[in-house]
Amino acid sequence: MYRIMRLFFTFVFVFLYGFVSDALASGLPDLGEVGMDDFSLAQERQIGEEIMQAVRGDPAWFDDPEVEEYLNRLGQRLVRAGAEPGRSFEFFVVKDAMMNAFALPGGYIGVHTGLILAAQSESELAGVLGHEIGHVTQRHIAQLVGKQKQSMMMVLASLLVAIAAGDSRVAEAAVMAGQAGAAHAQLSYSRDFEREADRIGLQTLEAAGFDVRGMSAFFERLQRSSRLYENNAPAYLRTHPLTTERISDMENRVMGMRYRQVLDSPDFHYVHARLHVQSLPAAEAARTLKGLVAGKPDDAALHYGRALAQLRLGHLEDAARSLDELRRRAKPSPFIAILSSDLALARRDPGLARDTLAAARKEFPESTSVVYALANAQIVGGRAAEAERDLRRALVGSNSNIRLWRLLARANAALGRRAAQHRAQAEVYFFQGAYRGAVEQLELARRAGDGDFYELSAADARLREIRLRMDEQRQSEKRDEQRKNER
Ligand SMILES: [Zn+2]
Repeated sequence: MYRIMRLFFTFVFVFLYGFVSDALASGLPDLGEVGMDDFSLAQERQIGEEIMQAVRGDPAWFDDPEVEEYLNRLGQRLVRAGAEPGRSFEFFVVKDAMMNAFALPGGYIGVHTGLILAAQSESELAGVLGHEIGHVTQRHIAQLVGKQKQSMMMVLASLLVAIAAGDSRVAEAAVMAGQAGAAHAQLSYSRDFEREADRIGLQTLEAAGFDVRGMSAFFERLQRSSRLYENNAPAYLRTHPLTTERISDMENRVMGMRYRQVLDSPDFHYVHARLHVQSLPAAEAARTLKGLVAGKPDDAALHYGRALAQLRLGHLEDAARSLDELRRRAKPSPFIAILSSDLALARRDPGLARDTLAAARKEFPESTSVVYALANAQIVGGRAAEAERDLRRALVGSNSNIRLWRLLARANAALGRRAAQHRAQAEVYFFQGAYRGAVEQLELARRAGDGDFYELSAADARLREIRLRMDEQRQSEKRDEQRKNER
């Protein structure tokens, strides 16, 4: 995650540095008047999208469609219940055992696998998401830009580190680069920000029908565990300073709210089982789950986890038995359908995998992970043309989805359509921020020799766009160098 955060830090710093310098050069507006309105939502979104390109290209990006889909469903439920239901949000998972969550500009919220596993209930996880959503809807990054004058850039940089980094090396670099005064201003802001994010988070949690005690319970446990760490507190506490005052504030608010007992969704437990199994070597996971199932034979999620572990070990008969135990105890769900189809594929029965997923798509039309799994089963089972058609349809409206592009490249490769394959692969690279790789793929597409007129002109148009983007990037880097030298 270090690389992502460095990129984030550098990018935003460079972006805003350019932004403010341009404002100064044109004489309007004055640095002191650069406020929230000047740092528009569209600009925030643009910064966020560029950072996300780096995130998707980073090995720490947790490429698990089911966990990501769950996190987004939970997050969107909160967003819809919150003060700005129309605001665009995207939630993603970072493979990191450290407990952390962070908001990037533009409504992108990252959550570490370690934090998801540490949440003992769905309401606790929702509490952390609600708090991050609060940072975004209150525009804490942009506000700081508006309030600071002289040392704005340093403050902004340290704030971004505070909100996003969770990496002590980056934080240290920021402190070294920044002035003491700036760092101090950032601290006092962040306490206010924390209080505000807590307030918004609690309101959202209540409106979305979760147990509001989840938030204070989670933070309290975090604080207790931090005493064990001494100077090495969990990243989340470094980025979201937690005080006794904050916790008692939260508890006071909760006392005025209606008590509600809330059951966790089965999906919360499936996600926990998935992360648990993936965090261990397969044999150890299977052993652990065997013990857990013996202790709680009616817990569906444990059978799910056990089946996953057995499948990973290649013990297909055992996995089938665990799947039966699971089905007997649980309602149909995309998690179960995808597990069944994975088992069918392992048993070299792509027809069964396809039928299972086609039925699941009808039953759960909103599920993106079913769309990916179905396309995969179609490609593996020799029906790449169907996959290609479905994927194109799915791409309408989610054009930056690299999983869809990746599958489309595979479908076209299976169909022997090389121009189309390279064109899809170019989009995978583009949305990972690897422009050079995207250009190479588009050139391969043009030379493939099997593209029709439409295919070739589309490749040409995209090539021009990406080259333009690369030029802009180069020029802004050059401008930046010049500014640094002039100072
Ligand atoms: Zn916070």
